[in-house]
Amino acid sequence: MRKEISAGVLIVDDLQFMRTAIREILEKEGIPVAGEAENGRKCLEFYYRSPVQLVLLDITMPVMDGIEALSKLRKIDKNANVVMCSAMGQDKYILKAIQLGARDFIVKPFKSERIISAVRKAIGFNV
Ligand SMILES: [Mg+2]
Repeated sequence: MRKEISAGVLIVDDLQFMRTAIREILEKEGIPVAGEAENGRKCLEFYYRSPVQLVLLDITMPVMDGIEALSKLRKIDKNANVVMCSAMGQDKYILKAIQLGARDFIVKPFKSERIISAVRKAIGFNV
């Protein structure tokens, strides 16, 4: 993939309130949000048009789940930077996600510091 990477984070979660909560946490820290997507397919469409520094990816979503989206993202772009951000009880996917190239795995509900430190670590923000 040769397109230019846009600054910021793509937030992927099927729940609007979760996307909004994550957006607020990031924006408060001055970390730019590049966009939101509500399922894996929308995530891939977005990323294909406009690759981003980091994708925060939920697992359980309709249409296409986060594991399939992660696998496809890493095929589109072998350097795609992805942090999984999923509900409790999805721990069985941690190993799979790491094998597929996820950088980190955050379990919801999370503390905002956890998200911020994972995002900073993944994209090297010094804010
Ligand atoms: Mg979900």
